[in-house]
Amino acid sequence: METTYRSIFKWGDKREEKPEKGIIALVKEQFGYTDADFDKKVLYGDREVRLEQKSKIPAAIRQRFENITGSENVRSDDYSRASHAFGKFYGDLLYLRKGEIATPPDLVITPRTEKEIEQILTLCQQENIAITPVGGLSSVTRGVETPNGGISLDLTKYLSKILKVNTDNSTVRVQPGVYGPPLEKYLNDRGYTCGHFPQSFEYSTVGGWVAARGAGQASTGYGKIEDLVLALRVITPAGIIETKDFPATAEAWDLNKIFIGSEGTLGVITSVTLKIRKYRPENRAFASFLFKDFASATHAMRQIMQAGTSFSHLFRLSDPVETATAFKIKGFDNSLSDRFLKMKGYRPGERCLMFVSIEGDKDYTHLLKKKIKKIARQSGGFYSGEKPVKEWLKQRYESAYLRDPLMDIGIMTDTVETSVSWDNLLILWTNVRNYLESREKVHVMAHISHVYENGANLYFTFLSPMKQGDEIADYLDYHRELIDAIHANGGSLSHHHGIGRVLAPWMEKEMGKTAMGLLQATKDYLDPKGIMNPGNTLGLR
Ligand SMILES: Cc1cc2nc3c(=O)[nH]c(=O)nc-3n(C[C@H](O)[C@H](O)[C@H](O)COP(=O)(O)OP(=O)(O)OC[C@H]3O[C@@H](n4cnc5c(N)ncnc54)[C@H](O)[C@@H]3O)c2cc1C
Repeated sequence: METTYRSIFKWGDKREEKPEKGIIALVKEQFGYTDADFDKKVLYGDREVRLEQKSKIPAAIRQRFENITGSENVRSDDYSRASHAFGKFYGDLLYLRKGEIATPPDLVITPRTEKEIEQILTLCQQENIAITPVGGLSSVTRGVETPNGGISLDLTKYLSKILKVNTDNSTVRVQPGVYGPPLEKYLNDRGYTCGHFPQSFEYSTVGGWVAARGAGQASTGYGKIEDLVLALRVITPAGIIETKDFPATAEAWDLNKIFIGSEGTLGVITSVTLKIRKYRPENRAFASFLFKDFASATHAMRQIMQAGTSFSHLFRLSDPVETATAFKIKGFDNSLSDRFLKMKGYRPGERCLMFVSIEGDKDYTHLLKKKIKKIARQSGGFYSGEKPVKEWLKQRYESAYLRDPLMDIGIMTDTVETSVSWDNLLILWTNVRNYLESREKVHVMAHISHVYENGANLYFTFLSPMKQGDEIADYLDYHRELIDAIHANGGSLSHHHGIGRVLAPWMEKEMGKTAMGLLQATKDYLDPKGIMNPGNTLGLR
């Protein structure tokens, strides 16, 4: 087994890729790279993992953990600890590339049952040992780090079963450690879909989706994860909380919502009941449109969402730079169609591409597509057919694999997302873009991918040469001011990536002191000794 730092930070199936032709051309054009620059191996991270710090858990206590789970499920070797020290935040990747792991967990434990989790939590409380539940470790907000060492509780090995599909109620009950693909396949085979497709779908788990309060690519139709969860079972240091799968209730607070987005700070989610929907890929309707500019495209999006019809499942809009980049990479520039579109006034650098995909009953999908086409046309949308959406869907998870090869040649690549109300969307988009573009040599793209009647998310992607030798501080400075810009312009701290430790410093400013007091009081009740994912996660003590 490969035990290098590289094998830890590489995304997904660890395939080694070179940037494709279109990306190479973009990097050359934007950053002045030459052919020789593409042979670079910047912070390649191909050294064997070695940790300075030994596990701090005394042998007698370790033995007690082993008595609970069996010794084979308690690991303290360097590689196991290193591979549970970070998620996939850009800063994490830099630390791993440099081989710097300051606070790895002391032990990685893979519990086999809920009973074992209860016993582990009791022991951690008695001995004041920090414990962080983890799924796919794809957190991009430093949600899985262990600043106090302690236990990384990995739920993917044993607690990954699909427990029950209930077709009367349209629900599925699953354990938290199940990854996206096996869950979706299981449901598809029975004529259902879970409807939750984050870009990290292949390597993230249901527990992580719920705990980090995520959203999938089809969230405009299916909803975010909080709209999909019907019931939860959570083992907290204070005891077990289990909510029921009522379709609705008026019983005081919504307890599910206390744990959705709790990021491992309150307890371990051990089962999730999700709503499921009929899977009918043959009925899907697709549409793509070009708009002359971002303002008319967002206007059309708003009109579509507020038309009193229903919602497209996938609903995406790329801003002018993202549209131009996609056209360039796909070799569309200067084609016959491109020349025709330019003639019609859809000019590069201004035009924007919109994607629609609607799922469900056949009459419904066709009717909604017709309505959307009509509204899009009223805002100057040019219908560009089904093919671009179908092509996009085929490679919907691919761009996640691009970050490593770009970092290999010294290019910083990161994304940040927010949500914003319609009346503020263009202002935020302009101002945050301006901030990002204030950096020398940077390529900034943005899109909308989760849309509501009241507003939408904005998702910024930026590429820029790393400041070599000072990569981490340079990135963190740029990122801090970026979050300041989003906050100052009325965007939420996060739409779907969660808060973790990265956005924690802004939490009190965003929520206010009293609201933070409420979160802290909940934490103090459920986790009186502060053992659950400690170290400022969510801005909690
Ligand atoms: C390339 C890439 C693309 C991404 N795209 C998206 C996207 O489109 N949409 C989106 O929502 N997110 C996205 N993310 C972010 C990330 O994948 C999500 O936050 C995901 O939900 C995390 O799931 P995970 O299983 O990897 O959880 P982890 O990263 O292991 O954990 C995330 C948080 O949840 C807690 N946690 C995990 N399991 C449990 C449990 N059983 N009980 C209690 N707490 C738990 C952890 O302590 C941690 O705080 C992306 C990340 C990457 C790297």
